[in-house]
Amino acid sequence: MTNRQQNDIIVAIDGHSSCGKSTMAKWLAKETGYRYIDTGAMFRAVTLHTMRKGLWGTDGTEPTISDVEKSLGDISIDFNPENGHTLLCGQDVEQEIRGMEVSSKVSFISTIPAVRTLLLEQQRAMGAQKRVVMDGRDIGTVVFPNAELKVFVTASADVRAERRFNELTAKGEKVSFEEILHNVQERDRIDSSRAVAPLKPAEDAIMLDNSDLSIDEQNEIMLSYFHDTLKKKVPLTDPSA
Ligand code: C5P
Repeated sequence: MTNRQQNDIIVAIDGHSSCGKSTMAKWLAKETGYRYIDTGAMFRAVTLHTMRKGLWGTDGTEPTISDVEKSLGDISIDFNPENGHTLLCGQDVEQEIRGMEVSSKVSFISTIPAVRTLLLEQQRAMGAQKRVVMDGRDIGTVVFPNAELKVFVTASADVRAERRFNELTAKGEKVSFEEILHNVQERDRIDSSRAVAPLKPAEDAIMLDNSDLSIDEQNEIMLSYFHDTLKKKVPLTDPSA
């Protein structure tokens, strides 16, 4: 094994909705030259696919599990290697999957075992060579239970809703703070209580509450976790020397 391979790890970042996981995961990936993989975007893309297939009632009635399963037959989800944007069946859907309509439907779609199985295989393949920072809800518990570094991020629901509100209004989306707070709490509830791969910290995850941290502070903490993990992994002196 080369020195470089010895230094290759998987970073699993899980946590509650809108807690800033992706901001820190993206930054860490850039800083370390790792690949960033946003698994939430994959679940969002599946959700958009079910919407485009007309599986949802006009009043928001949920689709049947078997209709969702059938719709998976012709789905493809990728990331554009140039800009990281999410591609659904080859089309850039980055903007659309971030809106409130997808956000209000995604946690239901994420409870469906066939959806999780499909994405699990793809996520494991993406991390097979390590050197990835992957964020989601079940990365440290299910996707990569042997990830070398696991961080579970959280913040109070009010702080998270405020961040999301600022993000969406900056993009010009018309939303109310109450609607977002409700969505964040509802997603936490569904994500934590589902039967398959529920949101929960892995036993060996480092807990990080970033309610009172600036982006720079949280980035610095993440980078120190990353270097500490590498130090633990690669002995400073070669034992065979
Ligand atoms: O991370 P993001 O908020 O974009 O994720 C959207 C939704 O996708 C989550 O609320 C959750 O229902 C689902 N998800 C999941 N497992 C993951 C990532 C996301 O169930 N690994």
